[in-house]
Formats: sequence, C-alpha cells, structure tokens
Amino acid sequence: MQLLVNCKSCGELSKIPHDEPSRPYLVDKIGTDFIHRCPDCGVSKQYHVNQVIAKKSNIIRYGGTALGLAILVGVTVGFWITGYFTNIGLIIGGGIIAASNFADNNSNEKAFNSYYI
Ligand SMILES: [Zn+2]
Repeated sequence: MQLLVNCKSCGELSKIPHDEPSRPYLVDKIGTDFIHRCPDCGVSKQYHVNQVIAKKSNIIRYGGTALGLAILVGVTVGFWITGYFTNIGLIIGGGIIAASNFADNNSNEKAFNSYYI
C-alpha cells in the first residue's frame, strides 16, 4: 500500500515516505499536520492526514496480473500439450488477476480511505 497526497501546488499525486496501515497510526507517527515536499514541483506545503490517500502498490497489482497470466497460459498450454482442453488455468489465473486488480472491497486501502480523524 502506498500513501499519497495531492500536491497543493501542481496537483500531482506524490508518495509520502510512510506506510502506516491506517490513519490513526499515521497520526501517531507524523501528527495530524505535516510538511510534505512534492518531488514533481519541489514545493513544500503543509497537509492534514485526512488529505492522505491510500493506494494499492503497483507491485501487487502488476505482480498479481503477471502471476495470473503466467498461470493462465502455463496451465492452459500444459493441458493442451497433454491432449486436454481445460479452463482451470483461466479460472485460477483469471481469479488471481481479478483479485489483484478489482477486489478492493475489504482492502486496507478502502479502510484507510474511509476513515477520517
Ligand atoms: Zn507538486
């Protein structure tokens, strides 16, 4: 999970160097207000922890998609070579791809984003 703020100067999302699992933990660590310097425009501004947005890290998203595709193709081709056609690979691989991309309903990100101080 990445924690980001929307830069008050240029509007770009920039990552803050913390990975607390929830907003109260973040407050414990950096306080309710903190100074963040945007790496895009270089402007330092004060932000409130409620302005922090949690986002699933790209490593999980792309890693999950890559793993899902590998299983999908691997299992399908594996069975095809042995003379069977099966959609087990499609089900497992597709499930992993879906889980890593869309299954955000109970995720840490959603919990973080819906809880304000
Ligand atoms: Zn900026």
